[in-house]
Amino acid sequence: MEQGARECMDLTVITTYRCNSKCSMCYIWQNPTRPDDEVSPATLEKLPGGFDNLNLTGGEPTLRKDLAELVDLLYPKARVLEISSNGLHPERLEPIIRKYPNIKVRFSLEGMELTNDRIRGEENGFKTKTAGLLRLKQAGGTDLGLGAVIQDDNIGELVELYRLTQAMGVEFATSALHNAFQFHKSDNVPYDRLRVARAIEKLIVEMLRTNSVKNWFRAYLNLGLIEKVLGHDRLIPCTAAQDFVFIDPWSDVYACNVRPDLWMGNLAAQSWDEIMTGERARALRAQVAACPQNCWMVTTARTAMRNPRLTFLPKRKPLQWVIESKLRVSLGLPLDFSRYIDYSRVQQDAVKPPRPSFLGIKGVRRNLRPKTGPHYAAFGEFFNR
Ligand code: SF4
Repeated sequence: MEQGARECMDLTVITTYRCNSKCSMCYIWQNPTRPDDEVSPATLEKLPGGFDNLNLTGGEPTLRKDLAELVDLLYPKARVLEISSNGLHPERLEPIIRKYPNIKVRFSLEGMELTNDRIRGEENGFKTKTAGLLRLKQAGGTDLGLGAVIQDDNIGELVELYRLTQAMGVEFATSALHNAFQFHKSDNVPYDRLRVARAIEKLIVEMLRTNSVKNWFRAYLNLGLIEKVLGHDRLIPCTAAQDFVFIDPWSDVYACNVRPDLWMGNLAAQSWDEIMTGERARALRAQVAACPQNCWMVTTARTAMRNPRLTFLPKRKPLQWVIESKLRVSLGLPLDFSRYIDYSRVQQDAVKPPRPSFLGIKGVRRNLRPKTGPHYAAFGEFFNR
């Protein structure tokens, strides 16, 4: 392992802010980057090896003409290389999967056909991505899956969606609405927190019924989502700037993808070691320890759940919950969620207008984001509670 990566377990590279979906809960597509400004292979070459999970995301990473080159460069630097895609261009991923069958690929799917296409503003999105994932499976892909952002508009289809992934023989990842600079949005809040939280319970039980260890720990991750949805504190303290960092399309390195004030440096202008071991990084870690947000993004939560030294092992708290809960479900006993979750406390919010659907809407203004100038300030504060 090269020096530097040991400092950081997981890394996400936001390769571009261009996107060909039109989601209601993420406005990256309205704020694209210029291809010439986006983080280059030469800059990413400066990264050390030895990452545990290295996620290539966006925007939509398949819009990068040099995605195959980025994969060739980064595949040797991580135990798991992941591509998070909207799945609208499976043909661009097929040659990559044929070359590296064990690359982890997750397609975003927010519900069954009508629901997905409405939330994500995608014509034929559901059909394209379900067929596309099976195409990657036929090409030899061994770690494929679908991922949904849990929200009011798809909560009734969550278990159905999970069963679809089981029938397809692929994985199912979940996250919840977040305010974050990565999404260019600061009004992503569930309308009915209690309803959404209660519905996640059903998915947890369903996951614990399977024989998949991965699913049992995903069940715990979903328990964290219930806390997030209700506005409670995180289940496990955040380890941003230490165990995970993000690189945005302008090569800026951030402790997390929520708070733009946690800027660590710029990989085009600095070395990785300078960024990760400098005075600024140390100061930011102290700020992270005192962070008042209750975010529980899948990228950051799964890092927090794992042992930073033996990354294939979980921390004690999730392990204990999984053993207890799996045992109860296996014995046919109900899970008493009130033992873990205080449902009497639900964060109250100011009433917000419903999130719009952009399906079939033409002419939405896209603001090309320049390399210079404030990148995220126009969107207000990105706060999660
Ligand atoms: S808890 Fe704070 S520092 Fe950690 S990922 Fe969330 S916003 Fe960032």
